[in-house]
Amino acid sequence: MAVLRAIVWKRIDFRESSRLVTLLTRERGKMSVLAKGAHRPKSPLLGCLDFLNLLEVHLAGKGLPILGRTKLLHEARGLREPRRFLACNYLAEVFDRAWVDGRQDMELFDLVEGSLLLIAGCPQEALPQVLAGIELRLLAILGQISALDRCSICDRLIEQDRLFMAKEVGGLYCDRHRPKSALTASKDALLRLREIDESPGRRWPSLPGSIHDRRALDILGIWIGSAVEYMPRSRQRLLRQLH
Ligand SMILES: [Zn+2]
Repeated sequence: MAVLRAIVWKRIDFRESSRLVTLLTRERGKMSVLAKGAHRPKSPLLGCLDFLNLLEVHLAGKGLPILGRTKLLHEARGLREPRRFLACNYLAEVFDRAWVDGRQDMELFDLVEGSLLLIAGCPQEALPQVLAGIELRLLAILGQISALDRCSICDRLIEQDRLFMAKEVGGLYCDRHRPKSALTASKDALLRLREIDESPGRRWPSLPGSIHDRRALDILGIWIGSAVEYMPRSRQRLLRQLH
């Protein structure tokens, strides 16, 4: 019997009354479990297996693990508001791409869990900077971000208004290493991102002034897209809702 901290990631119906559930677990990574009789009216699992709920689960059985006693630690109800829901859908897509199947990844799990709580609880107007913070942390975990004031090739410290970025690849570049199709990285946007990056997650919602500067989120969009080799359309939809 194993006890795990888990987030409900995907669900499909299985036979008449059961469900096959993909859990993101802190201890064992992403895994499929069988929730027997989850559809029965008196099942103790009723209400537990909603998308992105945080659970403590007991697993039994050899082969495909069977979901036993399950405790609901945090209900994803706060995420039903449309913009928060969009944000979580987008992040779930990106986290899913970033997660290597079969691998335990406590750091990434903690980021997913923390992200869901922050998005559920922060004031609506703080969503852009919370999103930026989460993306910065994800890029750091993936080893895809260097300091926000240095060239990612020669590591030279550079004045913020002399930094460039490529249109489709993450990273910042000095004058010498700028790619052919370089954009100037906005100085204000970079300063804003540094401020968020240097603050703990719980402070993101209350950082003075939210990111009305869309360029900060555009910079992150390029980096995220190149880090997970894919850019979910849900990010564009979300950004339109946030601005
Ligand atoms: Zn350089």
